[in-house]
Amino acid sequence: MTAEQADRKTDIRSLSREELTEELGRMGQPAYRGGQIFRWLHEKQASSFDEMSNLPLSLRGRLEQDYELCPLRIVEVKVSALDGTRKYLFGLSDGNVIESVLMRYKYGNSVCISSQVGCRMGCRFCASTLDGLVRNLRPSEMLDQVYQIQKDTGERVSHVVVMGSGEPLDNYDHLLRFIRLLTDENGIRISQRNLTVSTCGLVPQMLQLAEEKLQITLALSLHASGDEVRRTLMPVANRYRLEEVLKACRTYFEKTGRRVSFEYSLVKGVNDSLAEASALAALLKDQHGHVNLIPVNPIKERDFRQSERKTVEAFKNCLEKNGIHVTIRREMGRDINGACGQLRRSYLNEKE
Ligand code: SAH
Repeated sequence: MTAEQADRKTDIRSLSREELTEELGRMGQPAYRGGQIFRWLHEKQASSFDEMSNLPLSLRGRLEQDYELCPLRIVEVKVSALDGTRKYLFGLSDGNVIESVLMRYKYGNSVCISSQVGCRMGCRFCASTLDGLVRNLRPSEMLDQVYQIQKDTGERVSHVVVMGSGEPLDNYDHLLRFIRLLTDENGIRISQRNLTVSTCGLVPQMLQLAEEKLQITLALSLHASGDEVRRTLMPVANRYRLEEVLKACRTYFEKTGRRVSFEYSLVKGVNDSLAEASALAALLKDQHGHVNLIPVNPIKERDFRQSERKTVEAFKNCLEKNGIHVTIRREMGRDINGACGQLRRSYLNEKE
């Protein structure tokens, strides 16, 4: 441990209810204190220990001394004039920045959060990965993206998708803590069924997740119907063959009863042909899943282009004809740097 880490106060919002209760017990506090403080942190989302009005003053002082809340700081909010989508740039306590997005749907408000600062998966079309991984986010830093957005808008968040920057399953332990805190009955109480975790396909972690007895949705970033094309877009395809990845999806479905969704970003001339669509339909025939088509959002560092509208429609029709359930992702916040990692990147470039 470095001196800096030793000095550091404990990140109280990353602790589970049980851990918090244990810590308070060690401080000689009665058993109910842990639960009380947990509710202040996660249900009422207190921004200081001072607000915790049913705790004795001396305890508030003690908490202040040993623990930190490390809230995120809003650096910038961009609001889409087209659909009210709000893109947030948040500052972390160590000076890094991350981004999150609030999307308003008929069924409720959905927040898309980041799980890492940067990413090391290297997907070719993705802006988050251009400078590699900086660090994992802590559970509290994932949570606070949701808390801050709910506070800023005054509107209830009902859905959370872990589809921002980073590979969530590459930050597995923190992700699991985050899920348990987000869905705790004494916290912000997002239903597990309203939480989606998206992965580029890390097989061992997908299998581990299948054993956690959760009711969350797993989304797999597929982007091709064969290994050869997939490898040109996603370096992770060199590590795990599609066959293994799809087998892990199947296991996830069998163990949890939850259908997997498959994301497919359409890149002009790379993965958008009808032959590719038929191959995809054959590949997913036994998966019970559903495909979400995303016209690729071009980033300036790469020359990938979006498929034409009619190509996207034809791709969709071909899948449907073969009995696959498909949606085309509605592009939200097109006018405000919608794609993963683009806002953070333009902010860092400006600062330089
Ligand atoms: N690492 C996770 C989650 C992050 S990205 C994963 O790979 O699934 C969420 C989705 O957006 C993924 O399917 C990703 O491949 C896709 N994506 C990233 N950048 C994109 C872009 N510029 N255009 C279209 N889709 C993109």
